[in-house]
Amino acid sequence: MKQLNLLILVLLLALLTGACVCGPENSGAVGAKKTGPIRIGLSFDTLKEERWQYDRDLIMARAKELGAEVIYLAADSNDDVQNKQIENLLTQGIDVLIIVPHNAEVAAAGVDAAKRQGVPVISYDRLIRNSDVDVYLSFDNIKVGELQAQYLLDRAPKGNYILIGGAPTDNNAKMFRQGQMNILQPAIDRGDIKIVADQWAKDWQPNEALKHTENALTQVNNNVVAVVVSNDGTAGGAIQALQEQRLAGKVLVSGQDAELAGLQRIVAGTQSMTVYKPIRKLATRAAEVAVAMARGAALETTSTVNNGKKDVPAILLEPIAVDKSNIDSTVIADGYQKRELIYKKQ
Ligand code: BGC
Repeated sequence: MKQLNLLILVLLLALLTGACVCGPENSGAVGAKKTGPIRIGLSFDTLKEERWQYDRDLIMARAKELGAEVIYLAADSNDDVQNKQIENLLTQGIDVLIIVPHNAEVAAAGVDAAKRQGVPVISYDRLIRNSDVDVYLSFDNIKVGELQAQYLLDRAPKGNYILIGGAPTDNNAKMFRQGQMNILQPAIDRGDIKIVADQWAKDWQPNEALKHTENALTQVNNNVVAVVVSNDGTAGGAIQALQEQRLAGKVLVSGQDAELAGLQRIVAGTQSMTVYKPIRKLATRAAEVAVAMARGAALETTSTVNNGKKDVPAILLEPIAVDKSNIDSTVIADGYQKRELIYKKQ
C-alpha cells in the first residue's frame, strides 16, 4: 500500500513538473523526451591509449557546451568491471549511455540493462554485437585496414609479411584485418607476398605485439619486408622487436591513431605510416547525438551496420593515411597534435 502511495506521488510530481516517466517504450533511435539538464553516462573499455583521453575530453567539452553533464568510467579491459560500471552509471540517473565496449559480445548485457530502464545507447567507435543498440558512431574501419595494407604493399610489393592484429575481442580489430586482407589477398594469390605470421595482440597490448614479432622474425631468419600492425600502440611493440634485430627503419610498419609516439617514430623513420581518424568530429557528433536522443529528437544517420541482431543506424567517418609527407596538413593542421612535440629530438 505504502509503495502504491509512493508511486502515485511520483507520478503526480512527474505530471506537475512536466518530467517524463520513461519506460522502455520510449527508447529506440528516438530517445526519451527530456526537458531538463541531460546527464550522459560514458563507459570506456580503457583510457590507456592516448586517443581515448582525447575522446573523453572532446565529448565532455561538447556536452558542456550543450548544457549536458558527462559521468565517465573506464573498465581497464575487464568485461565484468565494464558491465558493473554500466549498472553503476544507470543508478546515477543517466538519460543516455555511450559505450566503448571492451568485448563486442559481452557488452550486450550492458546494453540490455540500459534498455530495460529506457536509456538509449550509443555504440562508440566499436560495435556492440547482438544487442539492441540504438546507434553506432565510428569510422570506416574496413577502410582503415585498407589504407594500412595499401601503403605497405605500394612500397613493398614482394616479400614476407607479418600480420599483427588488435584485440580479438574488439570488433574493430576484425574489420581492420578484413580491410587489410582486401588489399593483400590478390598479392598473396599472385605469389608476390607471403604471410609468414598471422597473430592478434590481446587487449591491444604492445608487449603482445613485441612477442609475436620477435617469434615471427626468428622463424624466418629476419627475412621480412613489412609488418602490418593495426594501431600505434602495438606498432611500438613490433618496432621494438625490429630494433633488437637492427631492422627498424628497414622493414615497413603500419599503425593507427596518430598518437604522438607514433608520429615521432614516423619522423624518426622507424614507423612508415599511421591512420589518422579525426577524433574531434566523432566525439563532437557523439555528444550532439547523445543530447538529441535524450531530448527525443530524430537522428540523422548515414548508413547501417548489421550487428548480428539488427541493422544499426550508423554514422561512419573517413580515416586518413598519414606519413612524413602530410603530418603537417592533417594532424597538425587540425590541432590534434603539436608540431613542436612531434619534431622534438628524441
Ligand atoms: C580503435 C583504435 C584503438 C584500439 C585500441 C580500436 O577499437 O578503433 O583507434 O587504437 O581500439 O584501443
